[in-house]
Amino acid sequence: MNQTTLREAVVLEDVGVHSGKPARLTLHPAEANTGYTFLRTGLENGRERLISARHTAVLATELQTVISDGNGASIATIEHCLSALAGLGVDNALIEIDGPEVPILDGSSARFVDAIDQAGIVQLSRQRKVLKVVKKTRVEMGAAWAELTPGNGFRLDVEIDFKNPMIGRQRRVVDMSPAVYRRDISRARTFGFMRDVEKLWKAGFARGASLENTIAVDEDRIVNPEGLRYRDEFVRHKVLDAVGDLSLAGSAIQGTYKAYMPGHKLNFKMLEALFSDRSAYTVSETNTRREYGQAEVLVSSAAYGPKMS
Ligand SMILES: [Zn+2]
Repeated sequence: MNQTTLREAVVLEDVGVHSGKPARLTLHPAEANTGYTFLRTGLENGRERLISARHTAVLATELQTVISDGNGASIATIEHCLSALAGLGVDNALIEIDGPEVPILDGSSARFVDAIDQAGIVQLSRQRKVLKVVKKTRVEMGAAWAELTPGNGFRLDVEIDFKNPMIGRQRRVVDMSPAVYRRDISRARTFGFMRDVEKLWKAGFARGASLENTIAVDEDRIVNPEGLRYRDEFVRHKVLDAVGDLSLAGSAIQGTYKAYMPGHKLNFKMLEALFSDRSAYTVSETNTRREYGQAEVLVSSAAYGPKMS
C-alpha cells in the first residue's frame, strides 16, 4: 500500500465553533512522509509558521484539540479536518489556514470529505507508514478509559453513557475503511448541552456555535428542527473525533482503540501513553528507493461519493 496525497488544492471557509472567528483553510497536496502539516498564515507582522500535526505539538484538549509551535502560533479544533483526511486514507497534506481555528462548517467532517473528493486522491511512490500496536496500553480518567490493543486493521470500539435521556448509552464498533468512514461516520455532528451554553460562552467557548453546526441537546428534546442524522449520531461523532485525534500519531494505526466516554483529553493521553512505551508499538519502514516524482494515479473521486441529504 502506497502513501497518498491530494491531486490538487481545495478551499473551505467558515467561522471557528469556539472562537467565532472566520478562517480560510486550503488543503494542499504534500510530498510523501510530510504527514499532516499546518501552515498558519496571517500572524502579526505577516509571520507564517509551520506546525506539524503530531501529539507532541498538542497545547490544549479542553473541548477541542489545539496544536502550537510553542512560540505563540496555534491552531484550534483541528480534529474534524484531520479525521476526514485520515478516514479517507490521505496520508500527506499541507493545511494552510489564515485564522486561529479550523472552520466548523456543518459540525461534522462531511464538508471536508466533499472537498477531498473534489480535489481527488493520488498515490505517491513511497510505501505507507503503519504504526502497529503490539502490546496493550491503557489510560484512565475518572470513569472514562481507553485502550489500544493489537489487531488487524484499525478498529474503533467506542461507548458513551450520558444521563441525558436524549443520548443515554450508545456503543459503536467500526472497522475503519474509507467507505465505512464516508457512510457511517463523516456526517455525525458535534453536540452540546443547552444547560452548558452560558457557562461555555463565559469561558470563551462555543462563540461560533449555532444550530447550523452543533446538535443542541436539551433535557427532553433535540433543539435542531431537522433532528438527528443518525439515531446514535453522538457516539458516531465520538468515533469521528477519535479518528482525528489519533491521527496525531503521525501514521496509520493498526490496532484496536476501545474507549469508554472518550474526549480529546483522553484520546491525547492514549497517544502519550503509547509513545511512552517503546515496546508497545512498531512503525513500518517506508521503502528507501529514490523517488522519481509523484505518480499521478487517481484512486478516488467525487464520482464515488454518496449522495448527501
Ligand atoms: Zn468533534
